[in-house]
Amino acid sequence: MKYYSTNKNTSEATLEEAVSKGLADDNGLFMPKKINVLPKRFFDIIGTLSFQEIAFEVAKAFFGDDIEEKALKKIVYDTLNFDIPLVKVEKDIYALELFHGPTLAFKDVGARFMSRVLAYFIKKNENHKLVNVLVATSGDTGSAVANGFLGVEGIHVYVLYPKGLVSRIQESKFTTLGKNITAIEVDGTFDDCQRLVKSAFLDQELNEKMQLTSANSINVARFLPQAFYYFYAFSQLRSYRPKFSAEELETVICVPSGNFGNITAGLFAKKMGLPIKRFIAANNRNDIFLNYLNTGVYTPKPSVATIANAMDVGDPSNFVRILDLFDHSHEAIADEISGARYTDEEIGEGIKNCLKENDYLLDPHGACGYLALKNGLKEGENGIFLETAHPAKFAETVEDIIGEKVEIPQKLQEFMKGTKQSVELGKDFEGFKNYLLEK
Ligand SMILES: *Cc1c(COP(=O)(O)O)cnc(C)c1O
Repeated sequence: MKYYSTNKNTSEATLEEAVSKGLADDNGLFMPKKINVLPKRFFDIIGTLSFQEIAFEVAKAFFGDDIEEKALKKIVYDTLNFDIPLVKVEKDIYALELFHGPTLAFKDVGARFMSRVLAYFIKKNENHKLVNVLVATSGDTGSAVANGFLGVEGIHVYVLYPKGLVSRIQESKFTTLGKNITAIEVDGTFDDCQRLVKSAFLDQELNEKMQLTSANSINVARFLPQAFYYFYAFSQLRSYRPKFSAEELETVICVPSGNFGNITAGLFAKKMGLPIKRFIAANNRNDIFLNYLNTGVYTPKPSVATIANAMDVGDPSNFVRILDLFDHSHEAIADEISGARYTDEEIGEGIKNCLKENDYLLDPHGACGYLALKNGLKEGENGIFLETAHPAKFAETVEDIIGEKVEIPQKLQEFMKGTKQSVELGKDFEGFKNYLLEK
């Protein structure tokens, strides 16, 4: 499979190139040239397959030309060593719990998959240079990427995070690991971290001396595997409602969105034949996409801070992929996806009410998804929202809202025991660049 750039100003890339570079040379995002539709037989038997078996079929459709079947199977099975159950929350509303992985957030899927694909190419190609993964984080991405890449040979990960602005729990998940993971504590904000990473990708000297790539959802190997769990969600929904045909289920999928990588993977799943009726993109107060749906004009804005902070994005990087998928037609996009926005107060009310009525504890991101289904689901439709993180990851916020303690899972507590190791840097690019060059 070849990958083209959404800017269409550079030559096509192989999977190996697309993964090792992250961004295309013309600064566009890579897109697979073809989206293979899965055979009808696959959908007929999907209910009898395990999550790994489903994921492997989907993975073959994307990566089957580029990675040998045996190796790909190992990558998929290795990535998905945890379950992603679909849980009924209330009548017609289900949560796809994406938080059972090592760092309790959906990013574990993409991060684990990408690290193993990169390792595959590094191993195969003896002359492959050491790959340096740069990632800016306000919490979730850094922990998933660091844990996904931990101990993978041929790769070094630099996690940049704003000093003092990441909770202790979050920080401990990437500062206590050591080995091939370096945590860089930047004396600045998340935007400063992001700017340092972007400047590094554009710096000619650095790129001549080091192979740099991104592990954000701009990387195809991070966002495409997210399609796996949409198929699995559908197969689980069918077993909840065995009397309904695929079409009769009228499945609506609601995705709490920030950079829109997760929902884009869902759109790919539908193009591969998954019978989803429509999508809802749920946002917090960062409602750039909703404004686009309403006006047809895309106007990025500086992000505002909310309690669903992994969705505080003012210029979603995967928006260009959505434009590309729908040939830049606003009408086609608005037909397929509707939008919703929630303030912090509404998110808080949603968490409280859902706990009271259903005894189900949402995290602030999933709460946006739940609310959008509750407000937007029509008669006869079945709604699935993606519960993107475990509520304990945002324990302080959630405890303030519900007035009760949230139990911290063992997996999170383990990280807190380690010793913090980090490098402190200023927010100037020269300092960061010199640090990297001296490594
Ligand atoms: C990253 C993240 C999101 C947003 O996902 P995108 O793919 O960027 O749209 C939502 N919820 C949580 C918990 C996240 O970590």
